[in-house]
Amino acid sequence: MDLANLTIIKARQLLKDKEVSATELAQAYLARIKKEDAKIHAYLSVTEKTALAQAQKIDDKIADGLEIGLLAGIPCAIKDNILIEGVKSTAGSKILANYSAPYDATVIRKLKKADTIFLGKTNMDEFAMGSSTENSAYGATKNPHDLKRVPGGSSGGSAAAVAADECLFALGSDTGGSIRQPASFCGVVGLKPTYGAVSRYGVMAMASSLDQIGPLTKNVADCQIIFDAIKGKDPRDATSVNSPTTDYRLPTTDKLRIGVPKEYFAKGLDPEVGKVIKGVIDRLAQQGARVEEISLPHSEYALACYYIIMASEVAANLARFDGIKYGAPAGEAQNLLEVYLKSRQQGLGDEVRRRIMLGTYSLSSGYYDAYYLRAQKVRTKIIEDFKKAFGRVDLIMAPVSPTTAFKIGEKIDDPVQMYLSDIYTVPMNLAGVPALSLPCGKVEKLPVGLQIIGPHFSEELIFQVAQTIESLLRS
Ligand code: GLN
Repeated sequence: MDLANLTIIKARQLLKDKEVSATELAQAYLARIKKEDAKIHAYLSVTEKTALAQAQKIDDKIADGLEIGLLAGIPCAIKDNILIEGVKSTAGSKILANYSAPYDATVIRKLKKADTIFLGKTNMDEFAMGSSTENSAYGATKNPHDLKRVPGGSSGGSAAAVAADECLFALGSDTGGSIRQPASFCGVVGLKPTYGAVSRYGVMAMASSLDQIGPLTKNVADCQIIFDAIKGKDPRDATSVNSPTTDYRLPTTDKLRIGVPKEYFAKGLDPEVGKVIKGVIDRLAQQGARVEEISLPHSEYALACYYIIMASEVAANLARFDGIKYGAPAGEAQNLLEVYLKSRQQGLGDEVRRRIMLGTYSLSSGYYDAYYLRAQKVRTKIIEDFKKAFGRVDLIMAPVSPTTAFKIGEKIDDPVQMYLSDIYTVPMNLAGVPALSLPCGKVEKLPVGLQIIGPHFSEELIFQVAQTIESLLRS
């Protein structure tokens, strides 16, 4: 089977025409994983038995002429911080090495209802903190385009699995860029939906005001299919809403107004990456799109603001991993406090502990006003920047990351350098707006992602324009 050229749409057709069975499709992917994943390490666990049993059930349904779900037989991979009932969920952390999820996340429940096949759980930076998967307690994932390089993070396993044809699509989570940056590094499509568009029930919370679950796929049409399958209001997540039927006119390319934020093309951007991005925008201009330079003046504070708000929420959310409520308790402790301290010391990695300390500090009385409160005010300014910009333009286009995939080990000892790779992705989480990473070219054989950003709930417009660009680049 030609997995390299397979998409969800094509696979659906093959299954419908009975050219392949769900079992054959699942077997083809499981064989591919066996062959490739020793090199890439995209998966933390492969659920072969349940995947084949699921596939058999679908084949039986088809044979009986029964109704099958929209994604029947489509094999996928799930980031390890998203819960699947009865399946190990470590979130890349040692503290959850033996944790098996007691229930399904809402997105999983929806995919199960659509008859999707789950191949396994993917590697990630511990509790989604990182930009390279090097913070996983279970070893780094490699970039399928160059095994010496990182796949990005924190959903690096999901992006690499899609890029290496080890699944047909994957789910990731994005708190500050964790879907888009690995999508960009691995040359796949990744969407961070509008905050609230997809239920967060059953994703391990990193920073609750920023987290969103989203798809990683091989093309834009597939991305839209998965987004439509997982979105919608969920009574179990009070922040979730049904996407309002937007009155965004879907402008044709010649009416489209594109904003190019000058702050995203300044010092720090690899000039070669900038050239590729500008090249695509120029081609859209040739098609008649109106391109104008805009300003998002508070961009320069976004990273600092994100690292205060995110760390504060991390400190609160991760308090539950104490060896009693969640996580393996440390042995040889003399009293309860020692259980807490030792379990966390032994179970959590350096980056996670660094952020818990930062967040605890910025929330502490005496520093709260100077850090946390101030950061919230800056967040409002960033939201206003986007609001103003979307008064003038339909979409904003920018790079996803200042560079292409960097080498394994290159930034791991310098947290600030690592944080800088999120500089173009965190503002969208702070503002809650949707953004998609679209493969748009290469620099020295490494993929470059174009970031397409829209107003709240404008996913449909983003998909439409991304698809136009996709076909433009193919021609
Ligand atoms: N790389 C960013 C961080 O380390 C984003 C993480 C994420 O989106 N989960 O915080």
